[in-house]
Amino acid sequence: MERTLYIVVPCFNEEKVLSISSRTFGNKLFSLMDAGLISSKSKVLFVDDGSQDSTWEIICSLHEENPAFTGIRLSRNQGEQTAVLAGLTIANEACDLAVTIDADLQDDINVIDQMIDAYLQGYDIVYANRQSRATDSFMKRATAIAFYKVARWLDTGIEYNNGGYRLLSKRAIRALLQYQESGLFLNGLLARVGFRSTAVFYDRAKRAAGQTHYSYRKIIDFALDGIISFSSKPIHMIGVLSICLLLASVVLGVFALVRTCLHAALPWMWILFAICFFGSLQLLAIGIVGEYVAKTLWEAKKRPLFLIEENLN
Ligand code: UDP
Ligand code: MG
Repeated sequence: MERTLYIVVPCFNEEKVLSISSRTFGNKLFSLMDAGLISSKSKVLFVDDGSQDSTWEIICSLHEENPAFTGIRLSRNQGEQTAVLAGLTIANEACDLAVTIDADLQDDINVIDQMIDAYLQGYDIVYANRQSRATDSFMKRATAIAFYKVARWLDTGIEYNNGGYRLLSKRAIRALLQYQESGLFLNGLLARVGFRSTAVFYDRAKRAAGQTHYSYRKIIDFALDGIISFSSKPIHMIGVLSICLLLASVVLGVFALVRTCLHAALPWMWILFAICFFGSLQLLAIGIVGEYVAKTLWEAKKRPLFLIEENLN
């Protein structure tokens, strides 16, 4: 049975690259159709994320040329994650599987073949991860590596080195759409969704044309969303720190007491003891308040408590 694939492409002010990349996406779609891997109803779905240039006009003319190119236009710029989610919401009505990919040809389109292979083997989520960051600037590479390492250490479940190029089965898309939260970080949510997932790898190329939309400030905001929305470990660490400080103050207190009993008191030691002891109490209080704040955060997100993978009933 042939399945319908939607290639979802978020586009924000991409007039410089879209005329080149749309051909590449189209050719891939048609070659997959010719190979009988996907149905003739498959499409490339562009999501214009409130562009101010001629991105939308280009999408409209592509659609007029061939209805295999289609698009939606968001009322304003909402950011890449929301644009992808909007695209998946529309794709979900018609597709069996979707691939999300950037508009700038940095991601190797031919990897889609391997992703479809994995999908046919029963995987619901197939991440296409960067195996090399040679084309990134030193700063971008360093910040990305630091982010993924911290994210892994904090057990966020965020896929290592995945920049948003992935295949999702209809089941995975439906599950993802049940999450109704702002501060979107799709890879974090996909880790929560579960189902069978695997990864394929590719080398990331340079942008075919145009410029990145991610300033360092935006990257930091995005990274914070990824960590704060998926881990309360930083809050637990306040508690751990307060206990360490309390233990240190006990040692200092015993030492200071012994020295005082031996008539060799060290006044600075008592001062240090007081700083550590009262500091640890304050940290403990902050940690306890933090635990309640974290609970409130998880409640406010109203994430689905479970998702059903199979049902024989
Ligand atoms: N993008 C978007 N909305 C935004 C910013 C970016 O839809 O507010 C799209 C953009 O058009 C591209 C993808 O997200 O298709 C990745 O953006 P970019 O290439 O600028 O990021 P980088 O590859 O430099 O991390
Ligand atoms: Mg890019």
